[in-house]
Amino acid sequence: MNISRRDFVQAAAGVAAAGLGGVGRALGQQAAGPGGAPGGAAGRPLVVASSNGLAACEKAMELMLAGNDPVDAVVAGVALVEDDPNDHSVGLGGLPNEEGVVQLDASVMHGPTHKAGAVAAIERIRNPSKVALLVMRRTDHVLLVGDGARRFALAHGFKEEDLLTDAARAQWLRWKENLSKDDDWLSPEESGDPSSRAHRRRPAPVLAPEWTWGTINCLGLTASGDLAGCTTTSGLSYKIPGRVGDSPIIGAGLYVDNDVGAAGSTGRGEANLQNLTSFTAVELMRQGRSPEEACLEALRRVAAKTEKRLRNAAGEPDFDLNLYALRKDGQFGGASLRRPGKMALCDRGGKARHVATPGVYAG
Ligand code: ASP
Repeated sequence: MNISRRDFVQAAAGVAAAGLGGVGRALGQQAAGPGGAPGGAAGRPLVVASSNGLAACEKAMELMLAGNDPVDAVVAGVALVEDDPNDHSVGLGGLPNEEGVVQLDASVMHGPTHKAGAVAAIERIRNPSKVALLVMRRTDHVLLVGDGARRFALAHGFKEEDLLTDAARAQWLRWKENLSKDDDWLSPEESGDPSSRAHRRRPAPVLAPEWTWGTINCLGLTASGDLAGCTTTSGLSYKIPGRVGDSPIIGAGLYVDNDVGAAGSTGRGEANLQNLTSFTAVELMRQGRSPEEACLEALRRVAAKTEKRLRNAAGEPDFDLNLYALRKDGQFGGASLRRPGKMALCDRGGKARHVATPGVYAG
């Protein structure tokens, strides 16, 4: 009998909440307590990010204050997370697809030129954000995928490497071993292997693998009001090879309009692809909504369009999607579909902090 994805998701939320996984958001993961006031005005310059972006925000702010272009600043910021093997939602150490291969997605967008670049399902290159930046600057295209994206990166001197760390491989193996009770893959618990320390320690129930939707989005605003953004991810864990999420799709995982503001997203990419929430949030800010209200309204639209299969007993979406928004005047905000959360923020003081964000639903 197969264990359904939903069962895995619920179990994985418990694993993530117990702190066994990376710092990316797992579906259903309880947000840490409020870290400050909800969205507001922090002025310019400002960098905001998903909750795993504290270090990214600080790096991006440091570079912007030194006079660097905001798109270079946010890419340098998220690259810290891509390089971190302990964040299992991004870059090196990201959880792989169902065949155990890490495939990464990323996008960048530059407000002053309104140019964008992206890569999808790229393998063996740990910094897809940097490749996306080169797609923007050194091609006449916006999106390169798969092997073409990898070969483009190699042409620009990127080095290939195996991105599957031992820790991520162990989680993938755990997922594979738990797929079916009828196949020939045996977990240590099923085999009863007495040499297995896991067996001696914890014979039952079978451990659930870590399962993440996790990503980093980072948005930068310079003192003079220029905007840029970047979203980078290893995507949905154990996805079908070739699956592309929302992160590299301009308007879904990221959107920047230098006249208005910027928005980016993490969470269930499929729901975002069907609704283009980043574009929606920027458009709502253009119409006068605050960043937080724009995020909430974009997410309410997702809720309204959610198919029955993905609703809980109360009829609410049973997945999470998170939006972060930054307005040209330095107002910022974020929101989640399912439950209150937090986002990262760094102003010219240079020390990043978390601020609380509301959820459309209470939990
Ligand atoms: N949005 C990403 C995707 O669907 C994953 C995530 O943010 O957790 O690929």
